[in-house]
Amino acid sequence: MADRSKIPVPVPTPETEHFWAGAKSGRLKLQRCSDCGEVYFPPRPFCPSCISRHVEVFDASGKGTLYSYVINHRPHPAHDGPYSIAVVALEEGPRMMTNIVNVEQTPEALVLDMPVEVVFEPLTDEISLPYFQPAGASQ
Ligand code: ZN
Repeated sequence: MADRSKIPVPVPTPETEHFWAGAKSGRLKLQRCSDCGEVYFPPRPFCPSCISRHVEVFDASGKGTLYSYVINHRPHPAHDGPYSIAVVALEEGPRMMTNIVNVEQTPEALVLDMPVEVVFEPLTDEISLPYFQPAGASQ
C-alpha cells in the first residue's frame, strides 16, 4: 500500500457497524441465518436466502481460498505498481471482494484455489480494512 490516505474511508452504518468493530479488533465478522443456516456477506439485517430477520453475527475463521482475481496494471494512488483485485471464497461459504497482499502481484504467485487468510490493515483510528494474504505468510 503506497499511500493509505488515498483510500476512501468506509463509513459504518447501523447494518455494518458490527463488521467494522470486528475488523478494528482483528476479527472477521459474518452473519448467519438462525432459520435456514445461510451464512452471508456483506452485512444486512435479513437473510438473503429466506428473508428471515432472525440473524446472528459470529466470528469467521478468516480462512479461505483464492477464487478469482485480476491484476490491475493501471496506476492507482493507493498502490505501488500492479495490484490484485480478488474474490476470496471464505471457509464459511460467502465470497468477499478484496486485495491479496504480502505476496508478489503476479500470476505465478497468485494461484487459484490457494489457501489465504485475512489480515487487517488499519486505515484510520476507527476503520481497519480486511485484506488476504497467502496462508502462513509472515506479516
Ligand atoms: Zn435464512
